[in-house]
Amino acid sequence: MKKKLTADQVLKECGIRARPVPLDKIISHYGIQQVDLPANSDIFGAILQQDGHVVIAVNPNQHANRQRFTIAHELGHYFGQMRGRTAGEHVDGDFRLHWRNNVSSAGVNWEEIQANRFAASLLMPEKLLCADVDRFSSLRPEVIQNLASVYKVSRLAMQYRLINLGLLPPDVDPSSSD
Ligand SMILES: [Zn+2]
Repeated sequence: MKKKLTADQVLKECGIRARPVPLDKIISHYGIQQVDLPANSDIFGAILQQDGHVVIAVNPNQHANRQRFTIAHELGHYFGQMRGRTAGEHVDGDFRLHWRNNVSSAGVNWEEIQANRFAASLLMPEKLLCADVDRFSSLRPEVIQNLASVYKVSRLAMQYRLINLGLLPPDVDPSSSD
């Protein structure tokens, strides 16, 4: 039976040691199919699993970095929750609501938090990011923007990742400045 995998395990199995992380390589390594949602779709992405066949659907109208995060998020649902089951599906509207780690606000879905954590760990691997951050004396806004470009993620996603890794103080709420 196929077991659940962490983002680091997936990167290792695919032999990925550089950024930006090539999601197409991961998707093809595990035989996953990627398709576009209809152009008028108002959802971010979805994942469907049936009889060992896995399809990830992504909204083609969103920014390329956003699409990357959506794909990584859906992979988080797959590797963290669905893998090994015979069937399952998950549809994501806007999962940015589930960013925060402290599960204090009502209605926070643990599966969404797990999928977001997986996505952040997959797109911004701790080892690679720490090595990059070491080269800078301070994480000024332009440095964070530069890191975001290098990893092909949004500046906000990079900011949250740096905070969660303890590399950036959480004193500023990143969501207020985007
Ligand atoms: Zn989700």
